Amino acid sequence: PLVLGIETSCDETGIGIVRGRTLLSNTIASSMDEHARYGGVVPEVAARAHLEALQPALETALAESGVALADVDAVAVTSGPGLAGALMVGVGAAKSLAVSLGKPLYAVNHLVGHIAADILDAEAPPLEYPTVALLVSGGHTSLLLVRDLTGDVEMLGETMDDAAGEAFDKVARLLGLPYPGGPEIDRAAATGDPDAIRFPRGLSRASDMAKHRYDFSFSGLKTAVARWVEQREAAGAEIPVADVAASFREAVVDVLVTKALAACRDYDVPRLLLGGGVIANRRLRDVALERAAEQGVTVRIPPLSLCTDNGAMIAALASELIMSGRMPSTLQFGADSTLPVTEIQVAADAED
Ligand code: ATP
Ligand code: MG
Ligand code: FE
Repeated sequence: PLVLGIETSCDETGIGIVRGRTLLSNTIASSMDEHARYGGVVPEVAARAHLEALQPALETALAESGVALADVDAVAVTSGPGLAGALMVGVGAAKSLAVSLGKPLYAVNHLVGHIAADILDAEAPPLEYPTVALLVSGGHTSLLLVRDLTGDVEMLGETMDDAAGEAFDKVARLLGLPYPGGPEIDRAAATGDPDAIRFPRGLSRASDMAKHRYDFSFSGLKTAVARWVEQREAAGAEIPVADVAASFREAVVDVLVTKALAACRDYDVPRLLLGGGVIANRRLRDVALERAAEQGVTVRIPPLSLCTDNGAMIAALASELIMSGRMPSTLQFGADSTLPVTEIQVAADAED
């Protein structure tokens, strides 16, 4: 099927067009620059930016893919989770587009979309089930057991406080680096020593592992970095930014990879799929690949352009739903800012 996907859950306005599992266009307009001076995404600003960016992004995507709007078989949209006001812009646009074209609408889960990005990887062999999936983004850090992308996603664990990307952004800020912090920390860490400072690995002690084996916690780590920096400053010493960045990044990566591979071992699943914007982190990918290989686990990493928020992953998920015979969504749905990852599609029409 030829599917047009709309994504507006955060600060990226994404329009993606896919045919089956083939990517035809992935157009993204970001309002990131408008948020940078506030040090984080401002919901009101993001919603307004989506309103302005949607139409031009749609035109670009159609032109790029050589597709006429009338030829689209279905429209897909992110209904959650995300910023309510931002989501509403995409949901409204998708509904009117679907109604005016007379085409089915698939309202899907943004987080499952991050995983679905993987199936657009033309170079990769088909996705095998079950697979453990580690989803690390600006707002989420979840460990999932995916038995079927279109019908069975189980949540094994998630962060109890900050998301990994959020931790990167906060630590970058306290090191005086600009927003978004992930790429900045990555850059600063390149010349640093990851073993310079031993920062805490959240929920990794034996007692924590009993109850929170697949859960994450990054706020203690963030506080530890803040305290370390404060003590240095109080002593009038210079802050070794590269070493702090490298040691912090190592702590995050260590926990993420250790817990993901523990899930692979426990569930006897030799497959690990990585998804979300934080996958852009070179060190995370390297450590995951290295340690997974030692354990006989195959790692799948979608193309990085599909790891951050985009409309193509939303179209891909809907395309997958259509190919497995799922009914479209009814128009009785709205934006759900806290949609759980287990709800792959919302307002699915009852099959009879
Ligand atoms: P969610 O999907 O949970 O709603 P989001 O869509 O805002 O959140 P993404 O776009 O998937 O998140 O990812 C953005 C996050 O990725 C930011 O927190 C950013 O700092 C982080 N990030 C980007 N590049 C890197 C990198 N190289 N290293 C670490 N983090 C990174
Ligand atoms: Mg974003
Ligand atoms: Fe996202």
